[in-house]
Amino acid sequence: MKEAKRAQGVLPGDRLAVSEEFLPGSHTYDSSGLIRSLTAGSVVKDPKSMEISVKPAAEPGLFRVDDWVTGQVEATQANSANVHIFFHNGKPNHKDFSGMLSLRGLSGGGRGERGARRTTPVKSGDVVRCRVFSLVNGIIHLNIDEPDMGVVAALCGICGKPLQKGSATKVKCDECGNVEDRKLARDFGTIPIEP
Ligand SMILES: [Zn+2]
Repeated sequence: MKEAKRAQGVLPGDRLAVSEEFLPGSHTYDSSGLIRSLTAGSVVKDPKSMEISVKPAAEPGLFRVDDWVTGQVEATQANSANVHIFFHNGKPNHKDFSGMLSLRGLSGGGRGERGARRTTPVKSGDVVRCRVFSLVNGIIHLNIDEPDMGVVAALCGICGKPLQKGSATKVKCDECGNVEDRKLARDFGTIPIEP
């Protein structure tokens, strides 16, 4: 049978067990004594509860170009940053996805002003809203060029208190007087944060 070939991988409708053997768990259903899968994924058997369930496969087509995501900056490099994605199009996303935020053009300064001013568009720990602009090579490529995209919340690098909006490109700490650069989303500082 085809089940054997795919080992533990199943597709919607695939037979998982007979209901005398197992109870239907999550992402399964009981159909006339046969437990079948509701989704594509891998089979999980719990010998204690005698439940059989399916862990959904992470759909590669979940993210699309022009979607937006909100997450936390985990690490920054010269021209990019890793963002752990927590919200996708405004809805919580419980799967473990990271995107690559492109900072090209944001961190260099260099608008003909003397001495290219170094700015810091994002820092580790910032909460950022980003646009998906490419999915090349299975990587979720993000940018924050639009006015609605950018940092929506950040903490002071010195004392750890929430930073307040200073100007269009600056945030300030009311606690210790620290001022930092950021590429801010238009609604930076709004509570609660809109993902
Ligand atoms: Zn501070």
